[in-house]
Amino acid sequence: MLNVSLLIISYLFMEFVAWSNHKYIMHGFLWKWHKDHHRKDRQHTLPEKTEDKRFEKNDLFFLVYALPAIILLILGFSLHYLALSYIGVGITLYGFTYFIIHDIIIHNRLTISFLRKKPNYYIRAIVKAHTAHHLPKNKTDFQNYGLLFFPSRFFKI
Ligand SMILES: [Zn+2]
Ligand SMILES: [Zn+2]
Repeated sequence: MLNVSLLIISYLFMEFVAWSNHKYIMHGFLWKWHKDHHRKDRQHTLPEKTEDKRFEKNDLFFLVYALPAIILLILGFSLHYLALSYIGVGITLYGFTYFIIHDIIIHNRLTISFLRKKPNYYIRAIVKAHTAHHLPKNKTDFQNYGLLFFPSRFFKI
């Protein structure tokens, strides 16, 4: 039970990590890694045709987040301290969620049509909130840095 709670807490904590890193690091001193993800902003064709299907420098962040997860998984299994592995699994599951929602459903970087067919109410709101992130009014107006949590008005739009 404790281990499952650790998994859930680390999963939710990763949303906080993603939000804060996106806001203060990716749109801060590592903008040089993130900016190619925004290169086609304001084309008003989101979410269908914004990115070319190729690697972005922004994908480096996946490696940055995968590394601590891999280390925790290996340490947990080799030291027989499974709590660490559960934290690693939580981080990994968040990474999968992010990839499926952000890269496949929103930006269509891999065409897996059944995932994009009939998104539910919550997924539709996530898409709208993240689409708003890609349509800033000016260079500093970005909003919705998180993925799973966002202002409730996106449920209504
Ligand atoms: Zn951004
Ligand atoms: Zn995006």
